[in-house]
Amino acid sequence: MIVNINFDSYLELEKIADKVFYPLDGFMTKEDFKSVVKSMRLKNGNIFPLPVLLPIEQNKKNNINLNEKILLNFKSNIVGEILVKSIFEIDFNKYIKPLFGTEDKEHPGFKMLVKTGNCFIGGPVKLIKKVSYKYSKYSYTPKDIKKKIKNMKLKSVAGFQTRNVPHKAHEHILHLALKEVEGLFIHPLIGKKKVGDFMPEAVLSSYELLIKLHLPKNRVILGALTTSMRYAGPREAVFHAIIRRNFGCTHFLVGRDHAGVGNYYGEYEAQKLCLKLEKELKIKIIKIRGPFYCKYCKKITTDNVCQKLDYKVEVSGTSIRNDLINNKRINSRFMRPDIVKLIRKSDIFIK
Ligand SMILES: [Zn+2]
Repeated sequence: MIVNINFDSYLELEKIADKVFYPLDGFMTKEDFKSVVKSMRLKNGNIFPLPVLLPIEQNKKNNINLNEKILLNFKSNIVGEILVKSIFEIDFNKYIKPLFGTEDKEHPGFKMLVKTGNCFIGGPVKLIKKVSYKYSKYSYTPKDIKKKIKNMKLKSVAGFQTRNVPHKAHEHILHLALKEVEGLFIHPLIGKKKVGDFMPEAVLSSYELLIKLHLPKNRVILGALTTSMRYAGPREAVFHAIIRRNFGCTHFLVGRDHAGVGNYYGEYEAQKLCLKLEKELKIKIIKIRGPFYCKYCKKITTDNVCQKLDYKVEVSGTSIRNDLINNKRINSRFMRPDIVKLIRKSDIFIK
């Protein structure tokens, strides 16, 4: 039996097989899904905060049997297989609140999840053919990165999750982290994102430039995380921490509104959840307090360094975004001109 999968599922299959989502060793069964929603744990008790599901077409459902091995086909290539342990349907409306902290059906993460369908199979997987596409050269396995960390002799490494082109507050965060740890693993997420988010190209090329010109090259590793954004805030922060731990990071940076979107999550809610679970996650959480531009100090700083809050100017990702869209000048206080120039050469946002 052969089942067709889409590109997003193919990427997830690869992540599971490469142990990016360890301890998850397959697409979730119904029991795992329910347990994850309810308690942020797999059925076996291991901490895991978000669903990783394999959607199938409704009409295939009746032809699939439990304990059957099924080949997974992507664009006329057999790319993997799954041992079916669960065949099930999900009505995501029942789970929106625990997963996304809202009842708003317009939540982008919820909308993306609903679009995958309502029919799924779960079970352990095997990858037969690695994903090969434009950004594969950036998509390292945990094994690759652990080896790099060892070769670079970095005893402590902080993982940095982002889906944006770096502005100066991001850069400040990276410099702060380098005071606490020996190395940085900059790991932009470039899987499925919503319309209006940055293009992978813009994010990766700008970080390449930033590392080349403005960061200590021998202490920084760049890779791309090819999984979907979930926009699930605190839960996704935990998910992102687990992933970076699996890549060999000793530390993980969590900011004011990690993996947030709009106003769905509370300030520092993601930090609080990660800190609560820190021990079990086996990765140290570095709390980031939003850096800002100070008109008095004439530089980017944070409120534990400078208390002249009357002089505070927020580095607003949203206003930088709007200025980029409208082709307006970006103040060099907020984003490096060399980065602005570079990203303006090609498409900046997902349409
Ligand atoms: Zn100041």
